[in-house]
Amino acid sequence: MSKVNITKWMDENKAKFADLAKQIWENPELGYNESFASSLQIKTLEESGFKVTAGIGDVPTAFVAEYGTGKPIIGILGEFDALPGLSQGVTPDHNPIVLDGPGHGCGHNLLGTAGVSAVIALKEIMEAEALPGTIRYYGCAAEELLSGKTFMARAGVFDDLDSVLTWHPATSNTTANFSMQALTAIEFYFSGRTAHAGAAPHLGRSALDAVELMNVGANYLREHVLDGSRIHYQITNGGLAPNVVPDKASVYYFLRGANRKQVEELEERLIKVAQGAAMMTETSVRWEIKSGCYETLPNITLNELMYKQVEAAGPFTFTEEEEKFAEQLLQTVEPSVLAGAKSHPMSANARKTLDTDFYHNMEYFGKTMGGSSDVGDVSWIAPMGQIMTVCAPLGVQVHTWQATASFGSSIGLKGMHYAAKIMALTTYDLLKNEDGILEKAKAEYLASKQGAEYKPGIPAGVKPPVPKKEATPVLG
Ligand SMILES: [Zn+2]
Repeated sequence: MSKVNITKWMDENKAKFADLAKQIWENPELGYNESFASSLQIKTLEESGFKVTAGIGDVPTAFVAEYGTGKPIIGILGEFDALPGLSQGVTPDHNPIVLDGPGHGCGHNLLGTAGVSAVIALKEIMEAEALPGTIRYYGCAAEELLSGKTFMARAGVFDDLDSVLTWHPATSNTTANFSMQALTAIEFYFSGRTAHAGAAPHLGRSALDAVELMNVGANYLREHVLDGSRIHYQITNGGLAPNVVPDKASVYYFLRGANRKQVEELEERLIKVAQGAAMMTETSVRWEIKSGCYETLPNITLNELMYKQVEAAGPFTFTEEEEKFAEQLLQTVEPSVLAGAKSHPMSANARKTLDTDFYHNMEYFGKTMGGSSDVGDVSWIAPMGQIMTVCAPLGVQVHTWQATASFGSSIGLKGMHYAAKIMALTTYDLLKNEDGILEKAKAEYLASKQGAEYKPGIPAGVKPPVPKKEATPVLG
């Protein structure tokens, strides 16, 4: 009966959480600036009787909300940051609400809210059944900057978890059996000497020259790295004026690879390229590691358990109107993009625009997809289960305006509600630990680490890049 009660409670209360997700969608905030979303979730959880600890790892918007006592301790991860330039209304044509403004093109308005609703539903059932154990919701900042969870991990808040669950909005219902790439984000700052670029160029030592030569070196390095590695950069400071030899210039690199070790080796080689560029230009260079996340370790034991909840979660359907909106959105996507997106692991197996079937197959197990997330860090600290659900039409890619439109529509809200149910039902099974599922998940987790230990990829001295002044949250 209990599982029926969980889904019943969630169906009865779904409007409340749809409203929360919608509010966060309407107030998109970039990483480390999520004061509205964080405060709103904290308020909701505190009102429901959760004990909240905020400001985790010196990140004001990161928090942990907890209910219950003792073991097991099961966590659910949430996110709430938006992306720059993806402002968009819920319309099938490109229609930014704020020109060049931020938008929820990765659906983190849904991602976090699903976790909040799952833990509140669980608290109800734990109270009703006097079920022992502890549940936690992790309000994780700045996933898009790939570092929020690493700062939280450095603070040790995931260390005592027995298992942890998460999900991501996508274009099919599927267990996430694939891995995501490890990543290092590192910025190089060159210093030289200014001079009049026309009158006395021989006196100048250009930091911008160093940046350009470093990029040339990196582009030659590209040929001699392991397949699947990624090197991308952005010049963050190219000087102030053409007639002043720039004494300061900087370049920001993302390095990706199949695992942490590969990325660390790449990092060492790129540092040599930077040092070489500094030597060539008689400038100096220093660098800072801004994020250093791990590849995700999928846990098939937990993913299977999530998949098994499909029946208990109940029906998942879309209306004709939603189907029509989805088709209209797809008409704005380039056919070549559409074809490529369908072969992506996030849309694996889906056969139609809004496919409500749930897929769990091992086709992608052991394969790495070309993206990274700081959830990888958590998967190295505790066994982690992860699913994707349909929150956008098949063919829409995340980080696009079409995705922002979908994640603010009833399609996104339905996918969120479904993911929340699966996470709540799975957590219920984990709290009961029938058939020693926690021990099985842990054994698989230990085996997949192959003896390696988690060591945060961001050095101890690096502080989170939080804004100097916290905006005062305005709550409705
Ligand atoms: Zn995302």
